[in-house]
Amino acid sequence: QSQAYDVIIIGAGAAGLMCALTAGQRGRRVLVLDHANKVGKKILMSGGGRCNFTNMFSTPDNFLSDNPHFCKSALSRYTPWDFIALVESHGIPYHEKKLGQLFCDRKSRDIVNLLLHECQSAVVEIMTRISVLEVIKDEGFRLQTSAGLYSCESLVIATGGLSIPKMGASGFGYDLARQFGLTVLETRAGLVPFTLDERKLRDLSDLSGVSTEVEACAGGGSGPHACFRENLLFTHRGLSGPAILQVSSYWRPGEAVELDLFPAQALADTLKQARRETPRLRLKSLLSNWLSRRLAERWCELYLGNPRLADMSDKDVEDVIAYCQPWQLRPSGTEGYRTAEVTLGGVDTRQLSSQTMECRSVSGLYFIGEVVDVTGHLGGHNFQWAWASGRAAGEVV
Ligand code: FAD
Repeated sequence: QSQAYDVIIIGAGAAGLMCALTAGQRGRRVLVLDHANKVGKKILMSGGGRCNFTNMFSTPDNFLSDNPHFCKSALSRYTPWDFIALVESHGIPYHEKKLGQLFCDRKSRDIVNLLLHECQSAVVEIMTRISVLEVIKDEGFRLQTSAGLYSCESLVIATGGLSIPKMGASGFGYDLARQFGLTVLETRAGLVPFTLDERKLRDLSDLSGVSTEVEACAGGGSGPHACFRENLLFTHRGLSGPAILQVSSYWRPGEAVELDLFPAQALADTLKQARRETPRLRLKSLLSNWLSRRLAERWCELYLGNPRLADMSDKDVEDVIAYCQPWQLRPSGTEGYRTAEVTLGGVDTRQLSSQTMECRSVSGLYFIGEVVDVTGHLGGHNFQWAWASGRAAGEVV
């Protein structure tokens, strides 16, 4: 004998809980199942413990997908301002860090508590440490789980992506999509640091901990191309920092990334002018006006030498530009799902309704959040997609 619900949601993360509270508020009988020992683990660890819960300037341009128009409907119907209003209605203090990114003043726990409180008011049942062993479709769905049999009219898959397996990430959503004949687009780690080959690492290891503003560009081969002006951080494994995380989502193995170390300067003009005006100055001292001392020093040691500006020929100036504007770098890889913030690819959106997230070919089956092939830029966009897609499904399940 199975226990019957109107809606069962698998995955008690950001998207699943938003969907649950929305459906519960409509009077639907909702059960949320999660295999982890507690709900919202990624929310808790997000934003360095302060959850960058949305971005005031989020638009569809902040998302990658093989089907870029898909995300527009849900994002336009549940905007950052809707989530901000919810946060304010719970009296949660928050602030803008930069670039529209909103963070909790206190801890990410505030956002999990908000979701749990709303779920409780809407009489949503949540069960953790449950494994879903089998899903069978009849008129509705029957679920064989480690805690017995459950059935529902609508089944929502909100199991997220593959990033951070230690936090309970699994390929469950992709496997279930395949079970029902849906296409899953190739997945790869996004918002992830780059690794470098041994020789490059040896060259750059002294710089571990140094951060500098760059314009980073990647992509354009088999996918879209994008540039971000943000900080790059040298690490003991390679490169990280917001500029690198952003372009990692556009990068494909084997490709080079372009890093303009002087994003605010037309370096050729600056060098030629300095050669005229301060000919006795050495290159390292000039570059230290814009780069940190350690970085300017290392760059001169590695690539540029440290000539007096007066001794530099036009060809020497060109060589300096070639190493800095942009610096062309071929990463050996990424740190992978172990540290990636998101998973690119996933359930092909061409098989889902952009209004409701329901599968076109399997009525009553919905996919929301990161398991779907919609991936946001760094800066609160991924949670905004989780809220918006969770809301879109929650209004109809
Ligand atoms: P998740 O939040 O990952 O939830 C999926 C849930 O499904 C989990 O509870 C999991 O336990 C459960 N589950 C998985 N498999 C199964 C299974 N087989 N059976 C049952 N349950 C299962 N985004 C931002 O916008 N801002 C940030 O500040 C930010 N910081 C981040 C920091 C880190 C370190 C990481 C890893 C990610 C961060 N992200 C951030 C991305 C963001 O956390 C995700 O995009 C978002 O959580 C996706 O929501 P979701 O509900 O789809 O999936």
